[in-house]
Amino acid sequence: MADSTGALSSSIRRPSTPEEVAAIVAEAAKEAVPLTVVSGGHGPWSHALSDGIRIDLGALASVEVDGTTVHVDGTTVHVGGGAVWGDVATVLAAHGLAISSGDTASVGVGGLTLGGGIGWMVRSWGLAVDQLVGAQVVTASGEIVEASVDAYPDLFWALRGGGGNFGVVTRFDFSAHPLPGIAFAENVIDGDAAPVLRAARDLLRDAPRDLTVTFMDVPAMDPSAPAGARLSAVWAAPEPDRLRAVLEPVSALDGVQTEVTSPAYREVLLEMPEPEGDEQAAPPGFIGGNGLYAELDDELIDRLVDFRLAHPASVVFLRSLGGAFGEVPQEHTAFPARSATWFVMAGGFDIPGLIDDAARASIRSDWAAIEAGRLAEYGNFADTERPEAVPGMFTEAAFARLREVKATWDPQNVFRRNHNILV
Ligand SMILES: Cc1cc2nc3c(=O)[nH]c(=O)nc-3n(C[C@H](O)[C@H](O)[C@H](O)COP(=O)(O)OP(=O)(O)OC[C@H]3O[C@@H](n4cnc5c(N)ncnc54)[C@H](O)[C@@H]3O)c2cc1C
Repeated sequence: MADSTGALSSSIRRPSTPEEVAAIVAEAAKEAVPLTVVSGGHGPWSHALSDGIRIDLGALASVEVDGTTVHVDGTTVHVGGGAVWGDVATVLAAHGLAISSGDTASVGVGGLTLGGGIGWMVRSWGLAVDQLVGAQVVTASGEIVEASVDAYPDLFWALRGGGGNFGVVTRFDFSAHPLPGIAFAENVIDGDAAPVLRAARDLLRDAPRDLTVTFMDVPAMDPSAPAGARLSAVWAAPEPDRLRAVLEPVSALDGVQTEVTSPAYREVLLEMPEPEGDEQAAPPGFIGGNGLYAELDDELIDRLVDFRLAHPASVVFLRSLGGAFGEVPQEHTAFPARSATWFVMAGGFDIPGLIDDAARASIRSDWAAIEAGRLAEYGNFADTERPEAVPGMFTEAAFARLREVKATWDPQNVFRRNHNILV
């Protein structure tokens, strides 16, 4: 829809029941109007100016613990499709429970889960999607279905990693884990980060699955984190002494300052600064990308460290995988590269006036060399719409199956504002 000035406008709907969602989806399908589904609002389609109908799921944000369904792996919890992870962690903490989500409080349960969800406990419990046991879905035809491994198993499989292609999830059912507390370590790095990354890589090869680490090296301009390089570690139990002992190969290195604490899990979820001005304003452009890697070999480490040094307005993020993440059979979910042991993201902010065309080209070419060795791209951190890149976010077999599921559940492509699976 464009107004008389040619500007795009969207009609924002805030349904509070699955039936209201179904009516909106049916309307959009009937009128062939583009539909944008918004949970936490961190995805690129939520930032983009768009026409059509925007479903804001913010009113569907309840978090309920179902005490009657405690089973071997945990307790089933029901989470509204528009909830954010900080609220989930707060409610679950009162029950001594947690779900491995992402690292940031304001990120939505909807977008993060449907794309996979790499969080602070990914080595302990797997992806967010690995903890999913059921979902209530409003389909493209306006039906409300309950999907699980027993009911509509193909749809349920596709929801676990295939993004928002298959319907609006109005309720996620997760198996939450008992969590009496965690230990947390910050290792601030002054100097060369390469030896620290090598030590972390080596210790993660045999480390208990209680340990998950992330690395970030960011400039002062990035509002999401303190400037500089640091390796953060979560131990999925309130055992700071064990974490201290496990991290010794890292903390003993020159230039590393380690602080170990025992916070609540909710406290380690990062808070994003409140947006100034227009809430929907898009973040600066990002030149670079991400990948899931079988190995963090020395060459990759050196490339990442050099990348950060060569480009002042750049960021480098890493997350350890393996553990529970790697034990889920590849074909169980649509998520790619279960053999990956590290996730890597690197790129530069494209801030007009700060970098020129030569700098952009240099970032692109350095990133291309890093990208060459990846197994797959992680769609949730691919923040631009690139239809040609979508097959590279899945295994070949998963992509073929996703196309079949899409043809069954959304042949008209009502749900296309996502990393779109084209039939
Ligand atoms: C600050 C920040 C931190 C992040 N940290 C992590 C992290 O630690 N780990 C990680 O894995 N990822 C992380 N991400 C990436 C994040 O997973 C994606 O950006 C994700 O898409 C955000 O989900 P959202 O619900 O907030 O966004 P939204 O923009 O609301 O949703 C993204 C897309 O998901 C689909 N969608 C959302 N909800 C539903 C629903 N209920 N039903 C159907 N479709 C739906 C829609 O297609 C929508 O366009 C982070 C992103 C940011 C910006």
